[in-house]
Amino acid sequence: MPQSRLVVGGMRYIASVSFGKDSLAMLLLLIEKGYPLDVVVFFDTGMEFNSIYKVRDKIVPILESKNIKFVQLSPDKPFTYSMIEQKIKYKNKPGYHYGYGWCGGACRWATSYKLRAIKAYKKSLNCQVVDYVGIAADEKDRISKAIQNGKKLPLVELGMNEKDCLQYCYDKGYFWDEDGVELYSILDRVSCWCCRNKNLRELKNMYLYLPGYWKQLRELQSQIDMPFKGEGKSVFELEEKFEKHRDQLCLEDRESLK
Ligand code: SF4
Repeated sequence: MPQSRLVVGGMRYIASVSFGKDSLAMLLLLIEKGYPLDVVVFFDTGMEFNSIYKVRDKIVPILESKNIKFVQLSPDKPFTYSMIEQKIKYKNKPGYHYGYGWCGGACRWATSYKLRAIKAYKKSLNCQVVDYVGIAADEKDRISKAIQNGKKLPLVELGMNEKDCLQYCYDKGYFWDEDGVELYSILDRVSCWCCRNKNLRELKNMYLYLPGYWKQLRELQSQIDMPFKGEGKSVFELEEKFEKHRDQLCLEDRESLK
């Protein structure tokens, strides 16, 4: 039976989904458990891993069959334009610089774009909204703020922690495969491939197992002055370190993946 109940001027139930393990588990559970759900919103930065798009493409027909609207939002300007070319006025001094540089850490400029776009979309509906967010039950530091902001957290209600979410997705047949490499076996989070928040273990795994993405990181670094992970840790410098300790890194990886 169709679950969608689009009511003009009434309440709408919206799930924000990135198609990573937690939000995907939330979406599958919302459907499985018959929660009211009208719209699924995905913000495409343009820098997602291919496997995210593959998961999206598997989900969209399911949403269609259940009469749940799928909305894909994107930044006004391409991600790499904002990152490298956009003319930006300095905050506290005269003059301009070009591009915001890497996104992540204290400067999550693309996250602001995402939040703004989703907020504008919800406002355009001109009705009350129930906002489902895929925060897992063991993400203690994010839960209270989300509740204060009025979000509904189905994974918390259902007691699903991050590990449960990943297993649930696998059990349902969803994987994040990149040429034979399962992303969640080498990364903690599957966010933008160019995200500065990746830790050194994740980056060394990208270097070792995802050479295509690493090549793209090199291309970005060659156009951005700021070193990717801070002083002495540009993509090129990291690569030198990873290469120097390649055998050791492979061994460490095998240990950490056990
Ligand atoms: S995942 Fe990282 S790069 Fe992508 S929008 Fe968020 S902070 Fe920025």
